[in-house]
Amino acid sequence: MVTNFGIGTLGPWPPLGYTASQIDRAIGIRGDEAALKRCCEHKQAATYVIGGEFVALKTAGELYQPLFSLAEARELGSVREIVFLGLTETAPRFGFGLDADALERLKTRNDLKVTDLRSIAVQGMVAPAHLPPLAEAKALLGWHARHRFCPNCGAATALSEGGWRRDCPSCRVQHFPRTDPVVIMLTIAGERCVLGRSRRFAPTMWSCLAGFTEPGETIEEAVRREVAEEVGIACGRVRYFASQPWPFPSSIMIGCHAEALSDTIVMDREELEDARWFEREELALMLDRQHPQGLTTPPPVAIAHHIIRNYVEAGADVLR
Ligand SMILES: [Zn+2]
Repeated sequence: MVTNFGIGTLGPWPPLGYTASQIDRAIGIRGDEAALKRCCEHKQAATYVIGGEFVALKTAGELYQPLFSLAEARELGSVREIVFLGLTETAPRFGFGLDADALERLKTRNDLKVTDLRSIAVQGMVAPAHLPPLAEAKALLGWHARHRFCPNCGAATALSEGGWRRDCPSCRVQHFPRTDPVVIMLTIAGERCVLGRSRRFAPTMWSCLAGFTEPGETIEEAVRREVAEEVGIACGRVRYFASQPWPFPSSIMIGCHAEALSDTIVMDREELEDARWFEREELALMLDRQHPQGLTTPPPVAIAHHIIRNYVEAGADVLR
């Protein structure tokens, strides 16, 4: 679709953060103790080091290096969990889970940088190929940290399958890593759409509405319910756009466009600080960082940016 504003200046489509992993998860290795041991002993085996919200990086020139040899990683503090992430073309990759306190102590070291994964992604601190395995490691290690006891009987559980399961020795139930689905959507009426602001946002930023799907609900139903709850607008058609792993702590963002059937915004003040209709033309200026009041969209690392850009470029055709 050809339009006469903004679009020509938006440039090439930026990559979506934490996606396009180059790692083969090699699930056959997970349950094979001998193969896992060989991976650990591989000369080029390397690991990401994570504790709570923090990631350890080596200071190394312009970009930081997030990979440590397994021996280097063991020197950083006591390791709570080791998870097998998979294989690159040349070597096995692991995630080492330390306590958040251990990472906190590393902050004093000049040869390391300890920071959170959002900052790493938004500021482009590591080569982009590291973001998907960092997301994989953070979500998986976070799950282990929160599931050390069996939710069925309360006994201590043990890591198995290279970190892709926890087993209860008492009631024998097996527990698998969880991913929580979140719907994130842009509600559209022709040349206008609804954006909202959470109190957590930077002062100029506006974004798509979002919320967890509930048990017994389809993605489309979750989109309609969340939009109705947050801004009081009824939605008709819902169209899936794309998805993104979001390891904060362990979600998958399901990006959609939704057709508005009503107009009046009735805002949920617990969830949102503000919400209003935006013209498509105004969104083009926000994406391009040319908005007269300095309003912005989320950065390209987040799927909201892409959901908005798709609408700016294609208009209401996104609902076809
Ligand atoms: Zn149990």
